[in-house]
Amino acid sequence: MSNTSNRERAAKACAGATGVPLGRCRKWAREGLISPHQPVPDASSAPQRQLEAFAANTLANTFRDHQLDGSVLGVVKAEPSSDSLDLQLHPVMANHVIAALLPRVDWEYGGLEGVPGLRPRDRAGQLVLEDVSGRAALRITQPAGERLRLPQGRRGELAMWRKSPRRLHGSEEPDLSSWQSGSRQRERSFARDYLLSRMLRRPRLLNRAAKAHGFANSYTHGYSDLVVEWCCAASVEEMASLLRRSGLTAQPASLVCATTESFLGNLDLGPSRVVIRRLPRCTIPYDVISEEQLTATHREEYLR
Ligand SMILES: [Zn+2]
Repeated sequence: MSNTSNRERAAKACAGATGVPLGRCRKWAREGLISPHQPVPDASSAPQRQLEAFAANTLANTFRDHQLDGSVLGVVKAEPSSDSLDLQLHPVMANHVIAALLPRVDWEYGGLEGVPGLRPRDRAGQLVLEDVSGRAALRITQPAGERLRLPQGRRGELAMWRKSPRRLHGSEEPDLSSWQSGSRQRERSFARDYLLSRMLRRPRLLNRAAKAHGFANSYTHGYSDLVVEWCCAASVEEMASLLRRSGLTAQPASLVCATTESFLGNLDLGPSRVVIRRLPRCTIPYDVISEEQLTATHREEYLR
């Protein structure tokens, strides 16, 4: 295949996975930033991958099967570069995404919620969610017609960004340390951070799972994986093929690990895994509620 057609293939795959305009993806392909093997740039630093992976984990467990308009993690477009990630959020879900990511201790729940060490910063008028170390960040694009705001905080909640704006608070340390799993599990954490960071960088592919009804069920088993289940939309074969071809499970140069062959819906990178599953039956209980009523109920939850 010629260099020109390889570049075009990479550019189209990048635009289709991220939502970045094709013209800009073509420029990235000409500059050698993307290739057919890896059409979406990876985050180049471990702290950036860790932040993105932790964010994907948190959002998957927050939204479960209550997303709007097929925005599985609340993201409609991602503009990835090697050292940062710009996210365009679903306009109605946007403030819920921010509230879910910013860490707080909930005394009633009994633990930390959100991404430990994440702090909101104003960078030239743009909201940036930055790690306290300053080595990783998610830049939030203002959705048209919506005002981004920091969560007010519920009764009994302690917001870490108010309590400890410049340093990691003691309440955040156990979750962070558990995420990093200590040195014995270093390879597993390293691979998981690559895989989940890549999922956050491919919202247009992920959101295809929620195309039929506007929602898909997303969750994780603790800090180990990411599961996405849906009904009535693309087949598992189609989703797995699209995600694999987007470079989701491509072995990065900095990670040497064996990936074993596994089931169709298991997308593995070394010892880490994303599971995609199309359920055998439709999940909407039509005898109780219509699809329109269900969608309206979900929307009301966000507007409350
Ligand atoms: Zn269905």
